[in-house]
Amino acid sequence: MHEFDAVIAGGGIAGSSTAAALARTGLRVLVCESGLPDERRLAGELFHPPAVANLDRLGLLTPELRSTAMLSYGFALFRGPTDPGTVLAYHEVPHGHAYGLATEHSFLTRQLLSAAAAQPNVHVWEGARVLAADARPHGTYVNVIRNGQPERVACRLLVSAEGRASKLRKQAGIIAEPSATHRLIGWRIRHASLPFPGFGHIFLGGPATALAYQIAPDEARVMFEIPASGPLEVPTATLASLPDSLRTEVEQVMGRERSAVAKVVTLAPTRAVASGFAVVGDAGGCSHPLTASGISACVRDAMLLGETLADEQVTVAPSRLDRALVRYETGRRRAVRTRVLLASALRDALYRPEPDMQVLREALFDYWHRSPRGRQTSIGLLTTQHDDTTTLLREYAGISLRALNVMRARGGDDIAVVPALAGLARRNAGYLADAVPRPAELLTRFRPLPRRHDHAAV
Ligand SMILES: Cc1cc2nc3c(=O)[nH]c(=O)nc-3n(C[C@H](O)[C@H](O)[C@H](O)COP(=O)(O)OP(=O)(O)OC[C@H]3O[C@@H](n4cnc5c(N)ncnc54)[C@H](O)[C@@H]3O)c2cc1C
Repeated sequence: MHEFDAVIAGGGIAGSSTAAALARTGLRVLVCESGLPDERRLAGELFHPPAVANLDRLGLLTPELRSTAMLSYGFALFRGPTDPGTVLAYHEVPHGHAYGLATEHSFLTRQLLSAAAAQPNVHVWEGARVLAADARPHGTYVNVIRNGQPERVACRLLVSAEGRASKLRKQAGIIAEPSATHRLIGWRIRHASLPFPGFGHIFLGGPATALAYQIAPDEARVMFEIPASGPLEVPTATLASLPDSLRTEVEQVMGRERSAVAKVVTLAPTRAVASGFAVVGDAGGCSHPLTASGISACVRDAMLLGETLADEQVTVAPSRLDRALVRYETGRRRAVRTRVLLASALRDALYRPEPDMQVLREALFDYWHRSPRGRQTSIGLLTTQHDDTTTLLREYAGISLRALNVMRARGGDDIAVVPALAGLARRNAGYLADAVPRPAELLTRFRPLPRRHDHAAV
């Protein structure tokens, strides 16, 4: 029998960051990672300034990661293949860091896990899958299969950093209803002609999301949204949203190289903790990758969990563990909600063809062009630096009012005014309703943490 204070299932971005954050509080941590992804996995590569700052604080930005990753400075949005672009730059957010980073996903996860493993109090078992957890009043027993051999580990805190398909989350009785709305298909393009190297590019004008950013000095990642099922083909209209030179480069690579594909999943579980148990990173919520906020959310979860455990002095007063976990859950709730709402609202505003979204889109770009404060707030929300749902709803309502001006200026000529007005009213009401906690969710906040009876195998 092995003994640790905390066991973390999953050594991806959330698992590595959480290991470093918990170890700093004095806890002895074991990370079990069943097998890190290789270069074929399409997942997070670009991360915003808050994630850079937090990874730095956790001591995970290795010299190799710093020297290999590309600096990134914000987003550049293009309303068609010849549009000069609208820039939302990180440096516009007061008190924020001015740059993010971008690098290939498997390199990033490997670097973070190695850096976490090098820290005092962190032990990493690779080739180790957490199979089941058995919660008892005095702690949890975790069954692990490590290089084919069964192992049993006793701990006080079990953390699921297993990603969006977390099995331990389900075992702990946390309800999550993932919805797989689309897929993203991507390629690595050598010497790509990106109009704004160092920015996350979002190409509009087609029916679905098209994204591109540099992951190396001579290489870019280009990704396209396609339907959740059906052939792995990028619609011609989506490709046509790219500038000519980039489109030609992408078409050449598409013709000869295999694509990488990932599901786009939206998920906001009702809870993030049970007695002696917490979820972090994608296991605790994820959204459309358009906002590139997943990595920032993983690292923020890790920091918050570490801080609440330290505040409650869990190392010297283990009985305060559950109180710390409740504080962790409360502390992250608003940020998760804001992130999920923002990604979905932005995806609709940028790509949906309905009359209300056409005018909202026009109003949104007008807002960004005219208002430095508007750009500041938008980039703050996109980078997760602002995580206040009220700010998001206020901005959405304000841009909807601007959309009315757009309609008035056009004199209703080429816009179906009534459907546009009805659509804007419906969407504002819908996001407002999504932002308000359901009665059942409110009730859970006043109940003691559920005890887990986790005898089932994962
Ligand atoms: C196409 C795409 C593009 C994206 N682009 C961006 C982007 O540009 N920027 C951004 O910030 N975010 C982006 N994201 C989101 C980002 O990839 C995720 O938020 C992030 O990878 C989540 O990390 P995680 O550690 O929570 O989970 P994962 O990355 O899923 O890692 C989970 C780890 O746990 C291991 N594991 C699972 N179960 C067990 C178990 N029982 N025992 C042991 N090990 C286990 C797995 O092997 C895996 O290594 C993107 C996502 C997608 C799909």
